[in-house]
Amino acid sequence: MKYALVTGGSRGIGRAVCLQLAEMGYPVVINYAHNQQAAEETKTMVEAKGVVAELLPFDVSDGDATESAIVQWQAAHPDDHIAVLVNNAGIRQDTLMIFMENSQWHDVLNTTLNGFFYLTRYLVKGMVSKRFGRIINIVSLSGIKGMPGQVNYSAAKAALIGATKALALEVAPRKVTANAVAPGFVATDMTKGLDEESLKKQIPCGRFGKPEEVASLVGFLASEQAAYITGEVISINGGLYT
Ligand code: NAP
Repeated sequence: MKYALVTGGSRGIGRAVCLQLAEMGYPVVINYAHNQQAAEETKTMVEAKGVVAELLPFDVSDGDATESAIVQWQAAHPDDHIAVLVNNAGIRQDTLMIFMENSQWHDVLNTTLNGFFYLTRYLVKGMVSKRFGRIINIVSLSGIKGMPGQVNYSAAKAALIGATKALALEVAPRKVTANAVAPGFVATDMTKGLDEESLKKQIPCGRFGKPEEVASLVGFLASEQAAYITGEVISINGGLYT
């Protein structure tokens, strides 16, 4: 069977992506770091769509943990492979750079950028050999435009955009695509602490995005119809930055 794996699938955009891919008929592997209860809820919601859902907790920023989780999954699934990978797990630790601790820099880079590298390095091999694959990296407006207070996060997302474009060129001949989706403000736990009333005045669409709206774009990029789109960064931000 062709599976989809979504990192950070327990909550927010990742959960909506799991549900979208389930609707498209993909069995879904739901990765998360700590929040078992939220992951179980996603699993139940995916199963309600009539497809298989499996939990695969590991910290994407830990290369050894990532390798061991994937090796174990592959050993348990000798006839299956992961055809769609959504690198969605991410954190933010905002502060002005003059106050930024080494740990705040490294934690954000390790999760977004190293997390992409550790996992994708393994899974892209199977995609290349099967001559089909979809890699979708969730980046951010912050990585395109730069945001004050987010030097670490902007750097991580901008680097992931570069990695997406380079990888797309490496794997295109093998019918594997790699694209990035760059949301603006989306209503999730990550944006809960923000002043939504004031921020939405700056957004031409007048509101924060919904996780399902991001998921539907991810679903299209994962589809057969998107075979000729690769190395792209697609913004979904309500017109905030074009
Ligand atoms: P969220 O609600 O905070 O959820 C974050 C998800 O990432 C959770 O499932 C969390 O797992 C997982 N995660 C965090 N660190 C991890 C790690 N080291 N290993 C594995 N999983 C990890 O965030 P969100 O708003 O849905 O954001 C999803 C992605 O979209 C992120 O990459 C974020 O940067 C990007 N994004 C979000 C927005 C926005 O406005 N929300 C805008 C632009 C881009 P646990 O549940 O176990 O903690």
